[in-house]
Amino acid sequence: MELYLAAHILPVTGPVVSGGGAVAARDGRIVAVGAEDEVRRELAAQGVAPATIREHDFSDSVLLPGLVNVHTHLELSWLKDEDLPGGDYVAWLRRLLELRDSRGETADAEGAARQAIETMVSRGTVAVGDVSNTLSTVGPLADSSLRGVIFHEIYRIRPEGAEQRMEEVAAQVAAADQELQRLGARDRFFIAPTPHGPHTTSPALLKALAGRAAASREPLSVHVAESRPEVELLQDGGGDLAGFYKERDFMDGDWQPPAMSPVAHLDRLGVLSPATLAVHCVHVDRQDLARLQERRCTVVTCPRSNARLGVGCAPVPTIMGAGIPVALGTDSLASVPDLDLFAEMAALRSDHSKLSAAAVIRMATLNGAKALGLEQDLGSLAPGKLARMVRVVLPSLSDDPMETVTTCPETVEPVAAAS
Ligand SMILES: [Zn+2]
Repeated sequence: MELYLAAHILPVTGPVVSGGGAVAARDGRIVAVGAEDEVRRELAAQGVAPATIREHDFSDSVLLPGLVNVHTHLELSWLKDEDLPGGDYVAWLRRLLELRDSRGETADAEGAARQAIETMVSRGTVAVGDVSNTLSTVGPLADSSLRGVIFHEIYRIRPEGAEQRMEEVAAQVAAADQELQRLGARDRFFIAPTPHGPHTTSPALLKALAGRAAASREPLSVHVAESRPEVELLQDGGGDLAGFYKERDFMDGDWQPPAMSPVAHLDRLGVLSPATLAVHCVHVDRQDLARLQERRCTVVTCPRSNARLGVGCAPVPTIMGAGIPVALGTDSLASVPDLDLFAEMAALRSDHSKLSAAAVIRMATLNGAKALGLEQDLGSLAPGKLARMVRVVLPSLSDDPMETVTTCPETVEPVAAAS
């Protein structure tokens, strides 16, 4: 039996325990959470001999559930040190595609992904929604302590060839699935095909991918309403993105815009469901929010990426006010300096002074676990869940635990009970 003692415990699904709390775990799972004396009494009542209890003294710290990063692209980690432009979505995308086209075999994408994973884990992340075009992150993720979903992302704006593309996708998913099996990680990850977004994926592919997700009961992650050029392209076929697509020969001159908002376009094609993770939602109006709420989608916000690309700030309090759950992602190292969810929580709080620390912590833990279908095991500290936690050292014992957690604390450490 492991017993973790801390100044404060943030269980997320229950009240904060202050003045000395404890989490007890056996075989990697939590058996009791609460005030230290209560937990000790409970263990005694269960017949646990004191001599068999291994104590971990974190009396200078706050313990909370391990964090869930619902949206990142680990395969882009090699772009970390490239000088990608900020403040202009299309300029950023243009440079990203140029770098991707020209990198040849020299960039160590897998090594960079492994390094990014190591940093994420060291900053308390325990689960991830990783978006991958190449599925090159299967190996690095399988070798890590993380769990979650690998979204195999598809994009193609040209209308023809959707059926053939779906056949290729099925074969790629089957191969990656076998690889997960071979690496012994099938119990921690699965592959879910997913569209990039309404502005990059044809209606036929969007429909086909939504149908596949519904049939398999797997989550679907879609970038939506991230930038003004995306909105303009779908509304009237104009704007910077339209020019860029013509430049790159991504679409024909006779391409017809749906003449509606990105959210409305996805809804019309059946893409919005309770399994849908609507990533970004920066440019959403009341009607869009009503649709997302009615379809019971989760919105995933990536505040630092939005700021870096200059696309605007997602109206998170309004989204929450519409009754839509919000989870948190970092997006990739092509648009943020690190994959640290603590930094993301701090950015969110500084963007929206009205957001409570408790709400932000819930986004980074329980809401993320629910979004990825992991709430049986992760997202809160409760009996039966995995004892995958993160310890945040308080600079001073008088510090407010929730404030400390949501202002990018310096010293954090993953804490996991052996299974
Ligand atoms: Zn993204």
